[in-house]
Amino acid sequence: MSDTAPFPVAPALADALRSADRVVALTGAGVSAESGVPTFRDAQSGLWAKFDPLELATPGAFERQPRLVWDWYGWRRELVARSRPNAAHVALAKIERRVPDFLLVTQNVDGLHAAAGSRNLVELHGNIARVRCSREGTPVSAWQDSDPQWPPRCPGCGAFLRPDVVWFEEALPAGALARADHAVANADVLLVIGTSAEVYPAAALPLRARDAGALIVEINPASTPLTAIADHALHGRAGDIVPALVAATWPADGPSRTDS
Ligand code: NAD
Repeated sequence: MSDTAPFPVAPALADALRSADRVVALTGAGVSAESGVPTFRDAQSGLWAKFDPLELATPGAFERQPRLVWDWYGWRRELVARSRPNAAHVALAKIERRVPDFLLVTQNVDGLHAAAGSRNLVELHGNIARVRCSREGTPVSAWQDSDPQWPPRCPGCGAFLRPDVVWFEEALPAGALARADHAVANADVLLVIGTSAEVYPAAALPLRARDAGALIVEINPASTPLTAIADHALHGRAGDIVPALVAATWPADGPSRTDS
C-alpha cells in the first residue's frame, strides 16, 4: 500500500493533526493483522484452531496446562518472527517524526512498531520475543527444552519459564500505564487503531483522552464501543487509512516540523 492510498480524509481532520502539538496513538492487534499476525478474535489456523486464545492467555491456563500455553506462545513467537511491519506501522513512525510530542501506546506484543522505526513507544502488554522466570520475573535468554511434558525451567531457581507478556487478569506494568495515562490526558489528538476497545485498562485510555478534550480518531473496519464517542470513525484497514491520513496531513515532501 502506498502513501497515496485513495482513502478520503476530511480536511478538518488533516488540519487538526497538522496543527497538534501532542498526539498519542493507541494500537491493538488490528494494526498487525495485515502483517499476518492474527488478532485474538480471528479464527486461529492449523493445530491451534480448536483453542480459544482468550482462554490460553491467562495465568489460570498456565497453571492448569503450562506446556500447552508455552507451546502456543512458541508458535506465535515464530509467526511474529516471520512477519514484517506493514504500511500502518511505517506511517505511524512517520507521524512520530512530524509531531513535536508523539507517543505510541500499543497493546501488541509483536515488536512491529519498533521494527518500523517508532521510538517513543510504550508496550503495555510486554513483548512476545522475551521470556522470563514465572517466579522471579528475571529475563532469560537461553534455556533447555528437553521435557515435552513441561515448559523449560529457569536456570536460576527451577521455576517454569513464561513469555514476558501481560495475560488477561494480570496487572499492567505500573510505569508503562502511568506514562500512557499521562500522555492521553494531555493529548490534542488520540488515534485509536485496530483495537476492539474491550480489554481494560487500555480501553479506558480513550475515555480519559475524551474527558480531557482530545480529538478522538478511530481507525477500524468494525464498530467498537468507542465508535459512538469518536469525533472521526474511519472504517477500513489500518494499512490503507493511516498512510492516507499521513499523505493528506503532510503532502509529499513537505518540511517536517521536527526537522531542524
Ligand atoms: P482484538 O483482537 O480484541 O481486536 C482487534 C481489532 O482490530 C478488532 O476491533 C478488529 O475489528 C480490528 N481490525 C482487524 N483487522 C484490522 C485492520 N486491518 N486494520 C485495523 N483494524 C483491524 O485486539 P486488541 O484490542 O488488541 O486486544 C486483545 C489483546 O490481544 C491485547 O491485549 C493484545 O495484547 C493481544 N494480542 C496481540 C497481538 C499482537 O501483538 N499482534 C495479536 C493478538 C492479540
